[in-house]
Amino acid sequence: MSGATLPVLAGRDGSAAADRRPGISGLTMPELAAWLESRGEPGYRTRQVADAIWRTGATTAGDAVTLPAGLREALTERFRWDTVGSTELVTTDGGTTEKALHRLSDGATIESVLMHYPAAPGRRERHTLCISSQAGCAVGCPFCATGELGFERDLETAEIVDQVRHAARRLSGESRRLTNVVFMGMGEPLLNLDRVLEAIEALNDRERLGLGARHITVSTSGVVPGIRRLTALGPQFTLAVSLHAARDPLRDVLVPLNRRWPVAEVVAAAREHARTTGRRVSYEVTMIGGVNDTEVDATAMAELLRGDLVHVNLIPMNPVAHTPWTASPMPVIEKFAERLRQAGLPVTIRRNRGQEIGAACGQLAADRAGAPAAPVVARRRRLLETASAAALRGERSHDGVPAGVGE
Ligand code: SAH
Ligand code: SF4
Repeated sequence: MSGATLPVLAGRDGSAAADRRPGISGLTMPELAAWLESRGEPGYRTRQVADAIWRTGATTAGDAVTLPAGLREALTERFRWDTVGSTELVTTDGGTTEKALHRLSDGATIESVLMHYPAAPGRRERHTLCISSQAGCAVGCPFCATGELGFERDLETAEIVDQVRHAARRLSGESRRLTNVVFMGMGEPLLNLDRVLEAIEALNDRERLGLGARHITVSTSGVVPGIRRLTALGPQFTLAVSLHAARDPLRDVLVPLNRRWPVAEVVAAAREHARTTGRRVSYEVTMIGGVNDTEVDATAMAELLRGDLVHVNLIPMNPVAHTPWTASPMPVIEKFAERLRQAGLPVTIRRNRGQEIGAACGQLAADRAGAPAAPVVARRRRLLETASAAALRGERSHDGVPAGVGE
């Protein structure tokens, strides 16, 4: 699943061949230096080119006016300077949420969402970008629009960091700076592990973007070996775990990856991350009415996390996917939160940003992909109803719910 997929030759519309030049922002500093050296360029060019990529936000080598014309030409021939260039922007929430739909060179579409948070007492203003790590996702959580799309391909390192360069450029035009990056867009970051680790190193590297590790959050549905590799990297990257349920029978339905890495193993790996980095782990719980919001589930979650260095975020389900489910009512969410607080756990109830433009996980791209046939949706709904009812009774089913309605 995590294997690299080469871009296909023809664009999806069949018109243009995909651009096979590597994205320049995917190069490490030594790789960039080696390429320049192989051309006989003086050592100081590496800094100049890196500044053009990371500081001035150049979208073509032609923008790098400090470089000689011959080098600019060679840089254009050899590399793509912007791998997410074809972008459609949609703004909502009174201008505080900007969703970008990026069309990649092979025709795949991905999303990034920029959220502006005003300054509050004791807190400076924040500009947080939510980015994608894959086109589609193989995990197939049934409440998620990306899961419904199914897996398309892994993103290249440059395609991941170029979402960030795109947003940073837009912000700098308004004299603002990007403060946080979260891997909560399309895809399961830890199933595209090598590229995601390269991307977070680029974002964190002082010689490139230079964003503090604490300001970079990787969200996972529970890929245990990936969590361990993130911990082993060293810097204090923030880990977010999409928990959704503390009991295996229910989590098997909500996060199909739970069959491979059960919840206790996921929490053990997250606990180790907190112990090694000293960073609080965020647990995300999408609240689905009558499915994972019961008292039994609140108690199970309180017992699972009690005493750990965590922060729990309860998020009402965004009704995007073709499921029989909707968000839990707010009083139910408040009661759930109270139960966790009684166990000493810090809890925040989050409002869903950008709901009207579908800021949750792949909705815009899913909408563009077209609606699945009605009988397929009906069958999937029935399967989910049966599976979640069995899970509520505590039964662990051995049949998976199909990942994508399009299959
Ligand atoms: N694949 C990773 C990161 C991307 S998903 C993961 O699952 O953690 C980012 C977050 O959006 C996850 O916590 C996911 O559970 C949540 N999400 C997906 N669909 C949602 C929906 N319809 N309503 C609310 N949250 C949703
Ligand atoms: Fe994939 Fe995350 Fe969506 Fe689950 S919630 S299908 S892991 S993107």
